[in-house]
Amino acid sequence: MTDIAFQPDYAALAATYGTPLYVYRADALTQAFNTYRSAFGEAALFCYAVKANGNLSILRHFARLGSGFDIVSGGELARVLAAGGAADKTIFSGVGKSEAEIEYALAAGILCFNVESLPELDRINQVAARLGKTASVSLRINPDVDAQTHPYISTGLKDNKFGIAYADALGAYRHAAALPHLRVCGIDCHIGSQLINLAPMVEALERLLLLVDTLADEGIVLEHIDIGGGIGIPYREDEAAPDIRAYAQAVAARMAGRSQRLILEPGRSLVGAAGVLLTRVEFVKHGESKDFIVVDGAMNDLMRPSLYDAYHRIEAVVAKDIAPVTADVVGPICESGDFLGRDRTLAVEAGDLLLIHEAGAYAASMASNYNTRPRAAEVLLDETGQARLIRPRETVAELFAAEARCLD
Ligand SMILES: *Cc1c(COP(=O)(O)O)cnc(C)c1O
Repeated sequence: MTDIAFQPDYAALAATYGTPLYVYRADALTQAFNTYRSAFGEAALFCYAVKANGNLSILRHFARLGSGFDIVSGGELARVLAAGGAADKTIFSGVGKSEAEIEYALAAGILCFNVESLPELDRINQVAARLGKTASVSLRINPDVDAQTHPYISTGLKDNKFGIAYADALGAYRHAAALPHLRVCGIDCHIGSQLINLAPMVEALERLLLLVDTLADEGIVLEHIDIGGGIGIPYREDEAAPDIRAYAQAVAARMAGRSQRLILEPGRSLVGAAGVLLTRVEFVKHGESKDFIVVDGAMNDLMRPSLYDAYHRIEAVVAKDIAPVTADVVGPICESGDFLGRDRTLAVEAGDLLLIHEAGAYAASMASNYNTRPRAAEVLLDETGQARLIRPRETVAELFAAEARCLD
């Protein structure tokens, strides 16, 4: 997806920063953002979904491009503000916002809350009343369309925990409109992530628009329509990305003649392909019935294969002229589920570097310290290829510093 302006020197990066290491490219971030902007137009608001990758320098990069933000916690709001993001371009999604989070977001002056239930409407109204404020709200409606993605990242079906049921939407809007400290400003949906088919996304929008019209007839006039997360990205060699222009055109055709501003909340498609996880081979282990390439990266650095059985392309940094092995690429963590790839054919030996591709999204942001593994460092390559450390590697001492203070 990137016009290759330079080839990163991964061996040098590994020598300087160690492995495992997340390496991101600023040019790819910019290009992905501009692809959305040119497809959907300047009038749309793009709210980068912070949970995909919340590193402050990544957030700052998007803020400078004019991006808004989609957050799902008070912690993410703090990140956006620390990175210089605009509160008034920030929307707060998520199914379980606490009173403290609502208070924080109201004080910061966010654009709106994406609300997922009646009790949440009441809670936001109460907090706003206490602070003497009016909260802008958009209702997340569950359009009940099948996004045709992995069940764990499909969110728009009836039995998902997300959103307000389509049949209950009108009642929920009436309820919201009657609450004195709420201002009803929009509607949103998010039917899932890693969507490869455009049809369900367009169908979801059509269902939202039916509601928008019914609401207008009742005098509830909305200011924006938020169509949720972005398109899927190709992870496999033989996959193709959905055509973003075709998506934008389908959306524009259905939005024609409407006054509402369009909002999108892309995450994965803005950062996924802009990052790799650089990892070093520790051993090639010949097992009884299977071979293993044991690397220094693990499920705590990239959880997607273990969690979703997700596929990431894995490639040797240097193509070697040695006999390839077909093996599972695994980390050192004490779990059989700790794998980064299965049955991969790679010509590698101990000490070689591997690239795990498409590791810019839902990789560092989902990292953990399981097995007391310090989280990996993150590096951002600027437009000229210059590397900047944007998160130092954690130290083991940092991992237990708080516990050490509690020792008797
Ligand atoms: C995760 C999420 C997104 C981002 O989805 P992507 O598939 O990464 O674009 C957007 N909106 C909401 C509410 C989310 O939960």
